[in-house]
Amino acid sequence: MLHALRSRVGTLSVRLPALDDGWLGCAMTLDLEDLRLGVYSALASTGRAPAPGDLAAALGVSGDDVATGLRQLAAARHLALDADGHVVLAHPFATIDLGFSVKGSHTLWWGGCVWDSFAIPHLVPDEPEVLVATTCQGCGRPHAWVVNREAAPAGDQVAHFLVPAAHLWDDVVRSCSNQRVFCDDDCLTAWLEREGLKRGYATELATVWRLASGWYAGRLDRGYIRRESSAAHAYLRDAGLSGAFWGL
Ligand SMILES: [Zn+2]
Ligand SMILES: [Zn+2]
Repeated sequence: MLHALRSRVGTLSVRLPALDDGWLGCAMTLDLEDLRLGVYSALASTGRAPAPGDLAAALGVSGDDVATGLRQLAAARHLALDADGHVVLAHPFATIDLGFSVKGSHTLWWGGCVWDSFAIPHLVPDEPEVLVATTCQGCGRPHAWVVNREAAPAGDQVAHFLVPAAHLWDDVVRSCSNQRVFCDDDCLTAWLEREGLKRGYATELATVWRLASGWYAGRLDRGYIRRESSAAHAYLRDAGLSGAFWGL
């Protein structure tokens, strides 16, 4: 009898990899939208990405499933990962310093760029007003604004987008880290010359605030769908953007 049991256990252990591809795999299927919402809701409420182990436990899947799912979400441009598979950007939230801090009443975030930082009070339901702080990318001078949903923040600084819209996702972390604010156009021009870079698109803070206000709408909700390019173009035009830089 004991011998018979051992045989059966042995047989089972050999068969498990095959079962894993069949009914066992089905029982543990990871819903990508659950994973996306897990990442986004943690970032929205805490400012930090959830640990992969916590996501796996919450979703009832393995760590490998979470890693695979995060790569699929990154391929679909719902987030960006570093070389180790950690979430770096889940727009408008960042997990590393890209030049901006965003302080709400309950939570402190890294803002990915000026566009993302201005978007956070529009997106997070119980944080209608935040303090966005940065330094001029050219000279290091500090700048800060109270940003809310009602009106663009006051300030005559210049926002500059280095990478054209069509290439934003070629290296999205570099793109975001170069969507910054300068004291004025002189500071921007001096920085471009110093770095040997071509001017991208410079605009006023009010335009960035309009751009940020609805761009990420729905991203904290189940069933979020990224804009098709025609809808994205219409949105960008409404925000006051134009020209080849934006694909318009
Ligand atoms: Zn400056
Ligand atoms: Zn950004």
